[in-house]
Amino acid sequence: MPQSRQVQNELIDTELIAIPGTGLRVSRVALGTWAMGGWMWGGTDEREATATIIAALDQGITLIDTAPAYGFGLSEEIVGRAVATAGTRQHAIIATKVGLDWHDGKVYRNASRDRILREAEDSLRRLRTDHIDIYQVHWPDPLVPIWETAEAMLTLYQQGKIRAIGVSNFSVSQMQQFRQIAPLHVLQAPYNLFERSIEMEILPYCRQHGIVTFGYGALCRGLLSGRIQSDTTFPEGDLRRLDPKFQPPRIGQYLKAMQQLDQLVRTDFHRRVIQLAVRWMLDQGIDVALWGARHPAQLFPELGVNGWSLDKTAMARIDRILRETITDPIGPEFMAPPQRVPE
Ligand code: NAP
Repeated sequence: MPQSRQVQNELIDTELIAIPGTGLRVSRVALGTWAMGGWMWGGTDEREATATIIAALDQGITLIDTAPAYGFGLSEEIVGRAVATAGTRQHAIIATKVGLDWHDGKVYRNASRDRILREAEDSLRRLRTDHIDIYQVHWPDPLVPIWETAEAMLTLYQQGKIRAIGVSNFSVSQMQQFRQIAPLHVLQAPYNLFERSIEMEILPYCRQHGIVTFGYGALCRGLLSGRIQSDTTFPEGDLRRLDPKFQPPRIGQYLKAMQQLDQLVRTDFHRRVIQLAVRWMLDQGIDVALWGARHPAQLFPELGVNGWSLDKTAMARIDRILRETITDPIGPEFMAPPQRVPE
């Protein structure tokens, strides 16, 4: 159900969605704060990051997604500070994650009970809060049985330290095992116009079981923003230097798709490709789109996501453009962190 808000002299309808079994209602467009942590995004500007979070909350975005691994605590600290500064803790819904560890700047999976219980306390402190609204296991850990991870999450839930349980990057079979031990309210997975593998099994499973879906990488790491050209360069430490989609000759295919999609949405809907990317996800049936931004101005196009929708004909034309332009597709697997070396 939409909620109307006065934004920059305009009345904008913010789409909201309820998370079954939790009492939480979140905006369908959420702010992702990975890039704000700097790690894998070539550094951060904390003042800009704080201003972006405050702008998002002003704009009607109520859900902020972060993680300890984003800048080794820095992203969570920025979120905690911004929400406290804006005095909006009771309106902001904070989603963070658990189950990764780091040594010497390298990140590893660790979803053991000890790690989860310790990490929850660290996140509460960094976020300056007494509860986390949505707590998500960041990646499955092949060295820890899923029942152990689920039991630790259940403990935190029963203690009232977390209000909803989520997992991220889990398969259907991993979710099935998890749900034998603990309730599962949210799944977070990669999803955007160029990365659609969850349509096969994961989205139908979540729909069937009332698990709310968060799609990450809504703009495919900026590729769908309209800003990226074949000669765009990225700073040292920016993951897009490694992302196989951003390397020639493949980048040419993705940019061609992006240009044709932009043409379609300009002509038929008077919007731009950045707005199409997010509208498309929501109309495809993902519940929440995670939009990564680190400057307040990067969020202004989000207002153009509301108040229109894609019909079946437009959806079919989009599918045809993707099929005809991207002949050598590749997924986001390069981002998966390694497991620990067994002791
Ligand atoms: P994204 O949303 O696809 O892209 C973010 C990037 O797009 C920004 O850093 C910015 O890059 C660019 N951008 C954003 N708005 C723009 C605008 N108006 N104009 C031009 N460029 C714009 O990617 P993401 O940050 O990877 O994903 C979103 C969120 O999902 C993350 O922040 C995180 O919360 C979550 N996530 C979760 C996982 C997981 O494993 N669970 C993995 C990845 C992401 P530049 O300014 O640098 O160009």
